[in-house]
Amino acid sequence: MERFNALLAIKTEHGPSIAWTELGRDDLMEGDVLVRITHTTINYKDGLALTNKAPIIRKWPLIPGIDFAGEVLESSHPEFKSGDGVVLNGWGLGETHHGGYAQLARVKGDWLVKRPEGFTAAETMAIGTAGYTAMLCVLALEAHDVTPNSGPVLVTGAAGGVGSIAVAVLAKLGHHVVASTGRPEEKAYLEGLGAKEIIAREELSGSVRPLGKERWAGVVDVAGSNTLANAISTTMRAGCVAACGLAQGMDLPTSVAPFILRGVTLAGIDSVMAPKSKRIAAWQRLASDLDRSKLAGLTVTKPISEVQELAPQIVAGKIRGRIVLDVA
Ligand code: NDP
Repeated sequence: MERFNALLAIKTEHGPSIAWTELGRDDLMEGDVLVRITHTTINYKDGLALTNKAPIIRKWPLIPGIDFAGEVLESSHPEFKSGDGVVLNGWGLGETHHGGYAQLARVKGDWLVKRPEGFTAAETMAIGTAGYTAMLCVLALEAHDVTPNSGPVLVTGAAGGVGSIAVAVLAKLGHHVVASTGRPEEKAYLEGLGAKEIIAREELSGSVRPLGKERWAGVVDVAGSNTLANAISTTMRAGCVAACGLAQGMDLPTSVAPFILRGVTLAGIDSVMAPKSKRIAAWQRLASDLDRSKLAGLTVTKPISEVQELAPQIVAGKIRGRIVLDVA
């Protein structure tokens, strides 16, 4: 494939303009592995990039898309050869390096992870950066000794991408999962993923108390702002809160009380620059601890041509679970 189709973001004097265009291999950026992309996805961050709601794209012109799955076409990297199935999440893809909304990508082999055995390329993008981040959150809770015997675990933004996968994985691991959602109509969906209790988003998104009743041993939070602050102040003694998102906001109006009076740990989660060893560990755990039928149940497949229509929907919190974008 010498020429290929890509969604290209260009900066104009009137602001960013994003359109499908035909490019050649020479338009790709530097890297030692050429990949034929078969599947990608839309994450919250992709939604922000495509709607220009946040300065995600920092190099122009750029192909957006923070992750992809595909097959190696050419490689001079010792770990990869033609025909290998690979996955890429983050590392500046769709921010400073051409991303996943294209038929071809040239990237550093050091950024790639071999597709874990047992997963199809489509399944790895059903998981996507959202699901891989959910697993990084689970690993953080485990590293801080949160076990199914410690007490309930809270997942905020539970009907979204990170939230849905976090609920499914934590439930499979035997945790009592409390799912917080702004969409009460998704109660049956969340129970189907394994949530034992559903609470309204408003229980946590309002005004913040320095300390509240101890409710959860662990938290996976995608919201930030008041929701994260309230989750921290209601975490049990020696519990852990994994903070990965900002769906409510970037601020964090909390106090030191939960940390110095209850020994609560706030674990920050960064999927973009996570070292390769951590990524491989997360993908291996997804292979063993994410029920495939649950993954299928939370996923919808759409053609890549619909990505621009989906962007405002994910930013508005209207997408349930995960979307695979078929590049073929
Ligand atoms: P989604 O849009 O799929 O899910 C976000 C969910 O948050 C929504 O579905 C909604 O769930 C909830 N939500 C929306 N608005 C609010 C609000 N105002 N207050 C509280 N909850 C709200 O996005 P993703 O799951 O892909 O990403 C979630 C967050 O995690 C994003 O902020 C994203 O940037 C971040 N992220 C961070 C990563 C990292 O490396 N740190 C990697 C991946 C994602 P419901 O309707 O159930 O309430």
